Amino acid sequence: MKLRTKKKSPKYIFVTGGVLSSLGKGLTAASLGALLENRGLNITLMKMDPYLNVDPGTMNPFQHGEVFVTEDGAETDLDLGHYERFTNVSLKRENSVSAGQVYETVIAKERNGEYLGGTVQVIPHITDEIKQRVRKVAEGKDVAIIEIGGTVGDIESLPFLEAIRQFRFDAGEENVLFIHLTLVPFLGLSGELKTKPTQHSVQKLREIGIQPDLLLCRTDRFIPKDIRAKIALFCNINADLVITAKDVANIYEVPMMLYEQGLDEKICKKLGLSQRSRGLQKWAKVVETLSKPKAGPIQIGIVGKYVDLKESYKSVSEALVHAAIANQCSLDIQYIDSEKITASNVESLLGGLSGILVPGGFGNRGVEGKICAIRYARENQVPYLGICIGLQLAVIEFARHKCGIAKATSREFSNTGEFIIDLMEDQRRVARVGGSMRLGLYECKLTPGSLAEKVYGKRVIQERHRHRYEVNNHYRKVLEDSGIVFSGHNAEMGLVEMMEIKNHPYFLTCQFHPEFRSKPFSPHPLFVGLVKASVEKDQARGKSKPAGDSLKKNGSTRARLSRGGTKSQPSATL
Ligand code: GLN
Repeated sequence: MKLRTKKKSPKYIFVTGGVLSSLGKGLTAASLGALLENRGLNITLMKMDPYLNVDPGTMNPFQHGEVFVTEDGAETDLDLGHYERFTNVSLKRENSVSAGQVYETVIAKERNGEYLGGTVQVIPHITDEIKQRVRKVAEGKDVAIIEIGGTVGDIESLPFLEAIRQFRFDAGEENVLFIHLTLVPFLGLSGELKTKPTQHSVQKLREIGIQPDLLLCRTDRFIPKDIRAKIALFCNINADLVITAKDVANIYEVPMMLYEQGLDEKICKKLGLSQRSRGLQKWAKVVETLSKPKAGPIQIGIVGKYVDLKESYKSVSEALVHAAIANQCSLDIQYIDSEKITASNVESLLGGLSGILVPGGFGNRGVEGKICAIRYARENQVPYLGICIGLQLAVIEFARHKCGIAKATSREFSNTGEFIIDLMEDQRRVARVGGSMRLGLYECKLTPGSLAEKVYGKRVIQERHRHRYEVNNHYRKVLEDSGIVFSGHNAEMGLVEMMEIKNHPYFLTCQFHPEFRSKPFSPHPLFVGLVKASVEKDQARGKSKPAGDSLKKNGSTRARLSRGGTKSQPSATL
């Protein structure tokens, strides 16, 4: 029998970043989570964003990248997607905190008179609210990894950094670890690795009162011992705790790269955690499969309007990578701007593709181009996966070209009167923009004998949603009479969740977002099905290359697998 006298405090690891944004803090935190979980620790991850939006749901994907939706329907930062893909953790609304949320809570308390006439200030009221949120998320866990968004030196990050500085006192030094991610650039001209940006970044942090315990230095090569010693000296850190975060060909190599330098071992030692390492076989296997594909490369076209910022489709592109791993094939993702597609150029733009995917989207810009792409996939037997708007447009395309409803549209796009896709009654009354869509996990029943049922291998599924519009039930019969198959339903709400067509190798669409539930170790069946059908299509037309064409050699795949931040173009590979 175990006797517990005192409740053990969780351990807290705070990850900050310096020098530049987009160094890969999110992936670092996620990889750290993977390594600690691998040691049998019960972990959680949290992201703190210094912007004033309450959540990223209202932000343009061009600015912020993808909005990641959790099971409980929170619209969160895309780094939460990395956390879930790399670990077994299921994240909730409270795992993503923005300055907007913190201020909203504090101001609401003030309006309710909860501060008893006191002056409400950043310190202590905002910092207390931040600390309280960290403690709540860490409750019952062995370790909580908390990533602070932004770069040290930003005005907005200050309340968060001040809160974590205080946190070390509150929780006890032995329970808190500060990790700082910086850049150590290699200057080709002088042939040197430069440490000054790192020195300055750590100085900035120390000015705020935070002495990092461990430095992760993003670079394109391993940092030699003498340079590590120099960084250690200037940054007041043991040289052993200066770790190289080297660029790698794909993000799933990051845990292994950090493991090989003993990162988890060092962290556990520092925090007094005794769990033993168990080896990292499962990650090694993923890396091995990625580097030695047996088929491909297949070319999947993602047809959308946010193609200039690939971070906008992060979970979709990662889900394709997971499916490629499952099919042991290499993958070349082509991002195709739907605004450029017309009936006359569709063949030249999409003709070479092995498969087509239309991901989620909002508004009417680029919609007609997506419809051209979907029609092309349907008529030319090209494997197609339609996600959310990708289902809605597939239904509209079918209505227009197979049922003769020429004016078929969605109420979101135009006012033709033929709203094949429409707002539900309860959505018509919604005036507020933020957080007002159908969000989060819903159950869906699959039609026996359908492709959907075959691909999933079960009758009832649960998937995450983020949309306002639905298939209009008034048109269901006429569409079904013309051959459309509605193969997934929300029985409770009487809504269509999946649509497919017959006599096609793979034409499957869903109202929900399957990409949010895909992981390298449990690839999502809808993506696995698309990639499998695409490989088969290429093999049938004699296009697939023989085994041994390494995924790493593929230029466009490399770019896609880059480790990027949230605001800018994908950064260099890690
Ligand atoms: N704009 C559509 C809707 O709100 C589709 C949303 C999406 O693709 N996520 O219903």
